[in-house]
Amino acid sequence: PLTSSDAIEEHRICVCVRARPLNKKELSVKDLDVITIPSKDVVMVHEPKQKVDLTRFLENQTFRFDYAFDKTSTNEMVYRFTAQPLVETIFERGMATCFAYGQTGSGKTHTMGGDFSGKNQDCSKGIYALSARDVFLMWKKPVYKKLDLQVFATFFEIYSGKVFDLLNRKAKLRVLEDGKQQVQVVGLQEREVKCTEDVLKLIEMGNSCRTSGQTSANAHSSRSHAVFQIILRRRGKMHGKFSLIDLAGNERGADTSSADRQTRLEGAEINKSLLALKECIRALGRNKPHTPFRASKLTQVLRDSFIGENSRTCMIATISPGMASCENTLNTLRYANRVK
Ligand code: ADP
Ligand code: MG
Repeated sequence: PLTSSDAIEEHRICVCVRARPLNKKELSVKDLDVITIPSKDVVMVHEPKQKVDLTRFLENQTFRFDYAFDKTSTNEMVYRFTAQPLVETIFERGMATCFAYGQTGSGKTHTMGGDFSGKNQDCSKGIYALSARDVFLMWKKPVYKKLDLQVFATFFEIYSGKVFDLLNRKAKLRVLEDGKQQVQVVGLQEREVKCTEDVLKLIEMGNSCRTSGQTSANAHSSRSHAVFQIILRRRGKMHGKFSLIDLAGNERGADTSSADRQTRLEGAEINKSLLALKECIRALGRNKPHTPFRASKLTQVLRDSFIGENSRTCMIATISPGMASCENTLNTLRYANRVK
């Protein structure tokens, strides 16, 4: 596995995978681990080591990514190889994005937002907070200090193709595109932040806003994309932007048959946005002149991050290790494989 002494490579698009450990629920139903990460960039999906009924197992497959993080990896470690190398980009007038992609329950929010499993919510160890910490460290460096940059944060949610401001009581916002293809989320709250603690408060506020009024926090968050942004401005003008995105769960199969109309429409919208996202990242990697950002609200609001010379992206595909999740896991790995 990766260690902190491994070299960090320069990628315009970095795609990696993170497997979490089997959780209590999986252990209680005796689900079995079908994931092995034999080296720092390989993931194997294989039959469980124990002798069992394999009717639910799909197939053995091996995938290679830029990095693969196994169940012993920490957020700090994942961060070091994914989002951390992007922090400098926004100080160099660039655009950076980092996505967590995977099925519900695979660890997207744990990776991006921090640990919300216990009673005490701790968002200080998620990639949102770790990125903010390093933004402020860099902000204080003499080379950047003399630029007189201001730091702002936004936090919003895209649910069923609509944008809601998580820093303003879930106000519904309009997205406008002017003649020059500039996209604007009208009225989005941009809060100035001066230290990591300021950012932690906003993350907490946004998270509680995200789930308030919902019967099940996970049911809601599995159907919406959460976008947290750190924006640098110089004399009011955008200098760089870092977008960190906890995507909607990518499992959609069950929605198509049994679910009600609303659920099916939401599912279709999520599929559409995840497909559009893949195409936009691929276009970025190939320096294609045409980026199909209009295909979904998600890619539309991220438009300025998919174009331009100095745009960099990383995707963290999160997977559940259990045999019961095998189908979703293979879908996640195939998608991630196609992004680059
Ligand atoms: P998602 O956001 O993809 O639906 P979560 O991040 O909410 O998934 O994770 C589901 C559960 O698994 C949570 O209880 C979370 O704390 C736990 N979990 C996720 N990733 C890890 C990990 N790498 N190590 C330990 N527990 C994890
Ligand atoms: Mg989540």
